Amino acid sequence: MTAQIIDGKALADALRQSFKARVEALAAKGHKPGLVVILVGEDAASQVYVKNKVNGCLAIGMHSEKITYEATVDQATVLAKIAELNADPNIHGILVQLPLPKHFDEEKVLEAIAADKDVDGFHAENVGALAQGNPRFIPCTPYGVMKMFEKGNVDLSGKEAVVIGRSNIVGKPMALLLINAGATVTVCNSRTKDLAGHTRRADILVAAVGKPKFVTADMVKPGAVVIDVGINRLPDGKLCGDVDFTGCLEVAGQITPVPGGVGPMTITMLLANTIEAAERKAGL
Ligand code: NAP
Repeated sequence: MTAQIIDGKALADALRQSFKARVEALAAKGHKPGLVVILVGEDAASQVYVKNKVNGCLAIGMHSEKITYEATVDQATVLAKIAELNADPNIHGILVQLPLPKHFDEEKVLEAIAADKDVDGFHAENVGALAQGNPRFIPCTPYGVMKMFEKGNVDLSGKEAVVIGRSNIVGKPMALLLINAGATVTVCNSRTKDLAGHTRRADILVAAVGKPKFVTADMVKPGAVVIDVGINRLPDGKLCGDVDFTGCLEVAGQITPVPGGVGPMTITMLLANTIEAAERKAGL
């Protein structure tokens, strides 16, 4: 069996096109959606992510700006800027690019963002709302994965779902979304015993590990939906996921590629969250 490939790039492009009308309608009423991205330090990967986020906004008519600080900036300066942005009526979304330099208290910085502008969905209030099954902002990567399930007509109810990874950014919110959708969910981590024993039971397998080609064909149940969240850079410079795509393609029922799978969906859902924030503010 050769799996059907879930094309995240095509879905992301279609969604971004569909967002334009919502942005125009908001702008016409004086609520043009605005996102500010704060970048501390010169991490090369973070700089690329931030540029793509700002450009993604601008391409669909939103307002977006980047605020950069030297890696040595003190936390109080960044917190003061967040307080200023929290009070700015033209800004609907605030995002602090992670990771922050070591001298920062990441949790304190994320909690400083007003919950109704927390378009990354990392504020404790928003995490709590998601855990209660009443989400306001869903973290962008797992939100993108849920859109891919929707597009692929993947019925999650009653399915065995296994998530590899338990990070606050991907694994945990992914597990909560799957629970909310009625799946039976197992969350694995680096201490899980007999990982393959778990993954082979999965109708839905989500890999968010950060290790190239970690999930091999023998770990996949025939016909399973395999979602590869991983983005790993190989020594030759090429991008590669956490799943051995070539091998798993022959076993899975549906599979996401890297690049062109979950990656393009993440920024798309950031745009969606910012538009939703502006719509709420406008009372729409
Ligand atoms: P992370 O914070 O490093 O978490 C990795 C998780 O994998 C941890 O929970 C870890 O377990 C688990 N793990 C590590 N080795 C394992 C093993 N041998 N068996 C089972 N579990 C194992 O990473 P993350 O932020 O969640 O990101 C995961 C991957 O997704 C990375 O490649 C990242 O670049 C990518 N990513 C992609 C997007 C996108 O837009 N597509 C967005 C975010 C992240 P412990 O908790 O026990 O250490």
